[in-house]
Amino acid sequence: MFKRVAVVGVGFMGGSFALACREAIGCEVFGIDINPQALEKGKQLGVIQEGSTDLKSISLFEPDLVMLATPVRTFVPIAEVIKDHISKECVVSDLGSVKGRLVYRLEEILGERFVGGHPIAGTEKAGVENSLKDLFRGKRFILTPTEKTHRETKEKIKDLWTKIGSLVEEMDPYVHDFVFGVVSHLPHAVAFALMDAVERLSKEIDLFRYPGGGFRDFTRIAGSDPVMWRDIFLENSQEVVKAIEVFMSSLQRLREAIRGGKEEELTEYLRKASAKRRSLEIS
Ligand code: NAD
Repeated sequence: MFKRVAVVGVGFMGGSFALACREAIGCEVFGIDINPQALEKGKQLGVIQEGSTDLKSISLFEPDLVMLATPVRTFVPIAEVIKDHISKECVVSDLGSVKGRLVYRLEEILGERFVGGHPIAGTEKAGVENSLKDLFRGKRFILTPTEKTHRETKEKIKDLWTKIGSLVEEMDPYVHDFVFGVVSHLPHAVAFALMDAVERLSKEIDLFRYPGGGFRDFTRIAGSDPVMWRDIFLENSQEVVKAIEVFMSSLQRLREAIRGGKEEELTEYLRKASAKRRSLEIS
């Protein structure tokens, strides 16, 4: 199992991974972040043992695992730098929310020692100070190997996440982007758009002074980090745009049923949606 783990991006996810990894396999963790304050906080909180703002200094730590935990559009430039500063045996993986062609680009740069992954766990809070040791316990972890992934690389990462307490599931990188484009990226897009709409409707009265329970529940995720979400939307743009288009047609059908006073159609639309939501085993 891994003994020396380098986490690139000592934020909420990188920090949570560092804590979980240390507890599961007792490894040493070295952090790299462009923000020196994140490294300082990470050290103070005992999340990382050492840290550096210089990506190239990763070679001094001689890691046997590098985990990428920065916003997804930084992965390629980071991989271009680290590829010459880690050993051939060093495994590289990631925690990014987008896979698809990004996985193939990283594989081109890093070779068969790279395997993509996405822990299906998180919150709207960013920053290492919000890290949670048990974030991944009992949660799904999607591993996205390709036909080129080294068998040993895949098994080692699978084993690590199983020890952390996650439920590992394999998925094709492009299927991953369709699935999470719909169940994760679309709801975030809608939540951000709702905030924008309410702001535009607040010209005369500050509507944010009257948040109901529905508004609170629905918009929690709109408080997520803008840079992280900009990167997710742009990196998975094809699937996100398709999902937004389908959503807009659903919203238009709802609007037309309301505008036309179509009582039966409206009841049926709401009844189907409500029954589906209640049938799901999620709270
Ligand atoms: P975060 O903002 O808490 O942490 C990101 C960290 O990366 C910050 O400390 C930032 O300073 C650092 N960083 C940014 N660019 C960098 C660069 N070029 N080099 C080095 N460091 C850099 O964000 P997070 O929530 O931890 O998200 C990190 C990754 O995890 C993203 O790829 C995201 O898609 C993925 N993810 C997030 C969640 C979630 O719920 N937050 C869930 C699953 C996956």
